[in-house]
Amino acid sequence: MRKLLALFFLPILLYSFEVKNGEVKILNFDKNSTVYFDGKKIQILQNPQEKSRFYVLLPIRYKEKLGSHTLLIDGKKVLLRVEKGRYKKESIKVAKSKIKPDKKALNRIYKEYKNAKKIYATFSTKRYWDKPFILPLNSKITSNYGNARMFNHTLKSFHSGTDFRAKIGTPIVAANDGVVVIANKRYYSGGSVVIDHGFGLYSCYFHLSKILVHKDQKVKQKELIGLSGESGRVNGPHLHFGIRLYSYAINPLQFTRQINTLFKGEK
Ligand SMILES: [Zn+2]
Repeated sequence: MRKLLALFFLPILLYSFEVKNGEVKILNFDKNSTVYFDGKKIQILQNPQEKSRFYVLLPIRYKEKLGSHTLLIDGKKVLLRVEKGRYKKESIKVAKSKIKPDKKALNRIYKEYKNAKKIYATFSTKRYWDKPFILPLNSKITSNYGNARMFNHTLKSFHSGTDFRAKIGTPIVAANDGVVVIANKRYYSGGSVVIDHGFGLYSCYFHLSKILVHKDQKVKQKELIGLSGESGRVNGPHLHFGIRLYSYAINPLQFTRQINTLFKGEK
């Protein structure tokens, strides 16, 4: 009876996926397909190695509703379960001015926020990269993506990237080929570089002490883009590395692992 029941449920199990909030899911296809997630069309992309294969990147917002969501793949309904990621809480002490910015600072923060939001929502219709992604430096992780952050005992936000230990002046390299879209100093993120990799994918490098690229510059993977530092809202020198996909800040390490499966011929 149990076997019969298992057989009965098998078709459903085959066609359902699970993913954690803040992570990305990759779906691979042998043909060009149409995919909708909760009614919103998701761009299908050509595999960087095999032109006859396709994939979609499905970034799940950190604040996405947990539980069942609907994927529509070539008209077929598939369930996608969003599960809660295991994220921790952390307390950080920073300068008072970074917690209660004055009016002038608030204006600047708002402008920078609006500018970044517009950039992350820009969808370049070209893939600039054709190699697996790398991390911008080899170092110990000091703060993981997704941590709920208490700045001076007040809950401010979740950690939108991964922090690496980096003493001031550590060389930081591009995670992959792309075009620089941000290269300036910002209130919270300090010396900032953001690279557009195409099709709504961006990598971010924050708190730099020196920026070695300029806006609109084409960069290659492993190219030196800046030196690490402790600028912006920080409690010590480190590199903050972030990934933005279709505007959402997702887990950069999980993203890197996932996107690189495209190069192993895995299904
Ligand atoms: Zn960080």
